[in-house]
Amino acid sequence: MSMEAEPENQINVIFLPFPAPGHMIPMVDTARIFAKHGVSVTIITTPANASTFQKAIDTDFNSGYNITTRVLPFPAAELGLPQGLENAKDATARETIGKLRLGILMIKDQIELLFQELHPDCLVTDMLHPWTVESAAKLGIPRLYYYSSSYFSTCAKYSILKHNPHQGLLSHTHSFTIPELPHNIQMTPLQLEPWLRTQSSATEFFEAVYESESRSYGALYNDFCELEGDYEKLYKSTVGKSWSVGPVSAWVNKDDERKSNRGHTEDLAQEPEWLNWLNSKQDESVLYVSFGSLTRFSHSQLVELAHGLDQSGHSFIWVIRKNDESEKGESFVEEFEEKMKESKKGYIIWNWAPQLLILEHPAIAGFLTHCGWNSILESVSAGLPMITWPTYAEQFYNEKLIVEVLKIGVPVGAKENKWAGMEDCADVGREEIANAVVHLMEKEESREMRSRTRKLSDAAKKSIEKGGSSYCNLMQLLEELKSLKIAIHRPLK
Ligand code: UDP
Repeated sequence: MSMEAEPENQINVIFLPFPAPGHMIPMVDTARIFAKHGVSVTIITTPANASTFQKAIDTDFNSGYNITTRVLPFPAAELGLPQGLENAKDATARETIGKLRLGILMIKDQIELLFQELHPDCLVTDMLHPWTVESAAKLGIPRLYYYSSSYFSTCAKYSILKHNPHQGLLSHTHSFTIPELPHNIQMTPLQLEPWLRTQSSATEFFEAVYESESRSYGALYNDFCELEGDYEKLYKSTVGKSWSVGPVSAWVNKDDERKSNRGHTEDLAQEPEWLNWLNSKQDESVLYVSFGSLTRFSHSQLVELAHGLDQSGHSFIWVIRKNDESEKGESFVEEFEEKMKESKKGYIIWNWAPQLLILEHPAIAGFLTHCGWNSILESVSAGLPMITWPTYAEQFYNEKLIVEVLKIGVPVGAKENKWAGMEDCADVGREEIANAVVHLMEKEESREMRSRTRKLSDAAKKSIEKGGSSYCNLMQLLEELKSLKIAIHRPLK
């Protein structure tokens, strides 16, 4: 449809995701929800990333929705990266994530040309693209800051940045209270992101990210107000405008095919082995263990985890990411896998699991998670209480929300915020792991957690139905964007 023929109330929105599953999967889901509500949507991405979600976009397009992908080449060779390495999930070294960010900056001019060519009425861009505030300003349109994490984590971080309660303590393991939060939340400096503890180039980058958040028209959160309404209110009164439009994954991935290959290229086998294994288990008897798309544990931490799960006496399905090509050959883990196959106590999935399908299986009783926000929302949507084992980024704040505010999880006792898998040491021991599993799977208290999580799961489902909170937020946002478009294009009298 040409620009001239475009009706006044049709809005045109560009989405620019960041190439890491925890960022890209929810943004693509959000883009698809926009398209299903009459928005003309373009997602700008690079070839290998497009291949992980193009099928879903094509299906939506063929069903009559106005959604397309524009693909720009990624400068892998210039960055010294192998061809096709365009997503953080394929990176084994921390520096690669910096290179991915640099790669996007290298194609910034081409992205901005596309912005001009496509005449958008709004840009929805990942938090990690702070420069897009200027792009939107040049085009005279709003930029929405996209963040798939908790308001709690943002409010906690803004408070810490403002008050520095972690400074001046005798040691990194002493607790401090986070000021100005509705709950009394204590943390240690060691649980904060390293860039908050020590000034580095990452500090400057994140300061630019948060500055861009406050300069944006508003923020889109993959969240729903029944989950953490107190913190949504606090955010709105201290940071700015926002819309909670989640949980986006439950909203848009309704059939099994969508659920299984969301964020991944390979299709689900007809009768996958993991499904047969889970089908052989009693209802609510298995723990799902996964640390998201980026965390790779050291060998010694894998050993502790394996022993902890084994000692707990409970069945589990565990997703292990490869540290490098040789990890699959690590004899300990291979032997452990064999032993578990024989005893039928545990099932290991290498690298990537169809998480949404597994979480919904009746045999699953709980989720041992690294507290990535998408995993938390998916666990809550499935009504599953959690064992929390945060590793890096804002995950330690999310743990506080789960354990202390919502009371739907048991902490494993992780103490240090660091990029997992970088050092060959084990932060959490087998006893702590086994105790947490037994606690979640057996204790009376965990029944209450389960019932609270089920209530939240019901609330999550209602929030995305017609008339629900997230649904209404989306409608209100789209109306606002239409009014803005009309105001911007109205000829001056
Ligand atoms: N995911 C998945 N299979 C895997 C690992 C991850 O489907 O084996 C999905 C998961 O369902 C979630 C996303 O990838 O939607 C990970 O996001 P999250 O915020 O939980 O953690 P991150 O990967 O960003 O640390």
